[in-house]
Amino acid sequence: MSTIFHGPDRVPIPPRDAEQFTTVCSYCIVGCGYRVYKWPQGQEGGPKPEQNALQADFTRQQAAQSGKWISPAMHSVVTDHDGNQSHVVVLPDSDCVVNRGNHSIRGGTHGSVLYAPDRPTADRLLHPLIYRGGTQLPTTWQEAIDLGARVIKAAMDTWGPDTVAMKCFDHGGGGGGFENNWAVGKFFFTGIGTKMASIHNRPAYNSEVFASRDAGIAALPSAYLDAELADTIVLVGANSYETQSIYFLEHMLPNLTGASLSKKKQLLPQEPHAAGKMIIVDPRRTSTVAIAESAAGKHNVLHLQLRNGTDMLLMNALSRLIYEQGWQDQAFIDRQTENFDAMKATNLTQDLDEASALTGLSKAQLLQAAEWIAKPKAPNVRRRTLFLYEKGLIWGLKNYENVASVVDLALLTGNLGKPGTGCGRLGGHQEGYSRPDYPGTRPPVNVDEVAINGGASKVFWVAGCNPAGGTLNAQQFRLTLARRTALVNHALDRTAGRTMEQRVAALLDAMKQGGLFLLVQDIYPIETAKFAHVVFPAAQWGEMNLTSINGERRLRLYQKFMDPPGVAKPDWKIMAMMAQRIERLYLDEGKQDRAARFSGFDWQTDEEVFRAAAVGVKGAQEDYGETTYAMLKTLGTNGVQTPVKRIENGTPVGTVRLYEEGGRFTFIPAKWPGYPAPIRQLMDDNRYPFWVNNGRSNHGWQTLYDDLRKPYVAGREPLPFVELHPEDAAKLAVANGDLIELFNPYGSVTAMAVLVDSNRPGHVFMLFEHPNGWLNSLTTGYVDPATTIPYYKGTKAGIRKVGALPEWQERLTFIPTNQS
Ligand code: SF4
Repeated sequence: MSTIFHGPDRVPIPPRDAEQFTTVCSYCIVGCGYRVYKWPQGQEGGPKPEQNALQADFTRQQAAQSGKWISPAMHSVVTDHDGNQSHVVVLPDSDCVVNRGNHSIRGGTHGSVLYAPDRPTADRLLHPLIYRGGTQLPTTWQEAIDLGARVIKAAMDTWGPDTVAMKCFDHGGGGGGFENNWAVGKFFFTGIGTKMASIHNRPAYNSEVFASRDAGIAALPSAYLDAELADTIVLVGANSYETQSIYFLEHMLPNLTGASLSKKKQLLPQEPHAAGKMIIVDPRRTSTVAIAESAAGKHNVLHLQLRNGTDMLLMNALSRLIYEQGWQDQAFIDRQTENFDAMKATNLTQDLDEASALTGLSKAQLLQAAEWIAKPKAPNVRRRTLFLYEKGLIWGLKNYENVASVVDLALLTGNLGKPGTGCGRLGGHQEGYSRPDYPGTRPPVNVDEVAINGGASKVFWVAGCNPAGGTLNAQQFRLTLARRTALVNHALDRTAGRTMEQRVAALLDAMKQGGLFLLVQDIYPIETAKFAHVVFPAAQWGEMNLTSINGERRLRLYQKFMDPPGVAKPDWKIMAMMAQRIERLYLDEGKQDRAARFSGFDWQTDEEVFRAAAVGVKGAQEDYGETTYAMLKTLGTNGVQTPVKRIENGTPVGTVRLYEEGGRFTFIPAKWPGYPAPIRQLMDDNRYPFWVNNGRSNHGWQTLYDDLRKPYVAGREPLPFVELHPEDAAKLAVANGDLIELFNPYGSVTAMAVLVDSNRPGHVFMLFEHPNGWLNSLTTGYVDPATTIPYYKGTKAGIRKVGALPEWQERLTFIPTNQS
């Protein structure tokens, strides 16, 4: 989408009697609280406090973070199914303890992404689509569901459940919630029983933190308060200013500047306190590094600019240094851990010279980091260190041991279950995971490789994700989709007008010849949908009631405040319709046992699914027990932190941080394995001299599915950017804004050069998942064999200059964002 949309330059003021709803940002893990105001079009409140719903004095300038400042991007006009048009304003909630009225550039634009036929969201999917004669045409729910149900059933009956593959969201926030996830899991695992399941951003059905789980640590053990109380915060593989913006700004930064000192003294009065320190482990000098240095002074921020793939070496070197100094928490180790000797024999024997040489970090830097993590801050007073890691580690070389090496360091230093400590994910999206058990084993099957590229599956259902660009080795994946779905197209074309039985028989024949029947369920006509035979229009955030948790397990109700466009439906409803149709088909054949697998989808409301999903989180960090929508409505944007321990007088009682009452943990040995063969081959080939790293930026979310409908982002980023070191740019004769092609044996991608010294020479960083340039066309097919998690952050490529598009170069900004 390249057209720049210019909206109105003023927004109406919510009147006093505007309807109010509470919700949570639909995007990142931080889960900032928002309030929604809705009132009939043609009405407006006044500027005096008694004339408007915000009780704000609009005759004066309102502060941007007051929760009372309304930008055009926070406003829209929506039309409900009854035809009534309403103003909607979505404002950050100053009463929410997560964001205190603050918002990021992503969250402050929710008004822009509500469906409106005169705005860039006009291309929302409004009706089911079905493939006919070389194109996709609108159809009824009845026809789309019937075709899908018959094909799925036929594939199961003919070849078994694993011939039906899926790749679906598993997240909370706008793209899922406990409600939709439960329905998806019940359909595929209880109903179909397929092992060919994969999660939106990876090729298998796995955890990104199997190692942490095996160690006995849930993914999100700490509270955001801990970032305000820690003596040292260690960020590993995360650019938190850009990707967990409000967690960084509202909870980490006040610690670094000393603004949370009074809170430290009040909550932890028995020990000395100072402003916090921060260690940032990242091969890039990011804006997070620059802002932390500006706020806290360079002497309080240690940026460990390690080389790609060497995180584990660094963590093990730090563990060894801490152990040699006697700074480990021996009492904790003796009391609450096992397998210490096995970890000692691997992690604690890491050669320090080797670690220094391979990471590119000096021994002085390593020692300084070890001191900041574990050197007692007074005699017999341990430091409180909070370890937070994300995709730089998770999607790095060898997922399992990478995560284990950080977990081991936290266990070695006893940093769990106490204020100001913890070891967990920062997170990407919010969490809303609840599903019946996955029927496969571990490590889970690589669905991309076996089911899609390998041809083992005949039907593929993609929901709420875009693997045509987002999966690993994406160019190969797209070519496979094109080839295999075309065979089904031909069968559909040949059988137009025939009976459904004849058509399904022809489809089975096409699938036998290698064809793939593709169903896509989404809110927009995404890249993957272009190959689909059936497209289901889904509802999004604000169009149904949702529940999710954030990065400190804070559960809230995201209230519905408008109808979905067209005949779009919540994901859970679509899964239920499909299940009920398959159930009927089996009943008609007298196959009661098979029909029974698809029973129990007769929910009438969002809350009925929420209550059904409670069984899937029992005993987990998300356990919400007997919590109801009414309780969550009362708790508003502050909700309750799971696990919910009990309900007291109608109010859920939650858990601020995990393991305060103890717990047993297991050290997991982690030995650096060197680079895997596909990466070694690229390293040994001088045609591909550049390491290609990737990640997000603060103004974009995931595949930019919403953002490219926001005028600012669409205008700022018509193509993905690639950060190129000025020395490399000089050798390639590349200037800011030039188009460059990155290529390797797996594929190629074109992007816009941004000259900045954030990377070492020879290393580039590219925005991931831009529909006009899929970075993952360059990633190899390598996955960690222990977890089936890809090494997305590690590939190599050659670069050639394509040329320049002067109008973009003149219009766009190339000012570096990482200067302190
Ligand atoms: S930090 Fe995350 S949750 Fe908060 S407003 Fe931004 S995108 Fe939304």
